Amino acid sequence: MKTCVISLPDEAATLDLGAQLARVCSSAVVIYLYGDLGAGKTTFSRGFLQALGHQGNVKSPTYTLVEPYELGDRTLYHFDLYRLADPEELEFMGIRDYFGGDALCLVEWPQQGTGVLPEPDLALTLRYVDTAREAELNAVSALGETLLQQFQHGREQA
Ligand code: ADP
Ligand code: MG
Repeated sequence: MKTCVISLPDEAATLDLGAQLARVCSSAVVIYLYGDLGAGKTTFSRGFLQALGHQGNVKSPTYTLVEPYELGDRTLYHFDLYRLADPEELEFMGIRDYFGGDALCLVEWPQQGTGVLPEPDLALTLRYVDTAREAELNAVSALGETLLQQFQHGREQA
């Protein structure tokens, strides 16, 4: 299956989704995070980072565009491209140094980087459902399909 819809009744469920996905992402992966302001992209990222051992705060890097995290022997780049004026700015940032290596990449507002940003393995869309949220997780690459299967397997065991 290439897609999966998950209901997220509260913030804890969004954090948990991030943690569950982090547990299957052992190698380099690119995850796009779609959703309106306040939909839960950064909350998801916090759950993801905490599951990999990060203990501090996680804020959207709205002005710096990217925040690096060193997690043991792994590197994670958390992007927030909301304020990116032009995808070409990513070239000036040296985007190729972030992608294509061993790092895990979480990207909020990926549509702002269309044409320059590499394709993702997984795309997560967060939507408002009254005061709660719903997540749609799509596998985009072959790696993404494998990860989605492992993620679903993990949820069945839980
Ligand atoms: P974004 O990065 O998408 O702009 P944030 O994660 O910064 O959104 O903010 C999301 C807000 O919604 C936070 O106040 C968080 O507590 C809340 N939230 C997150 N997930 C849920 C959920 N499943 N149900 C209700 N509220 C949620
Ligand atoms: Mg955010």
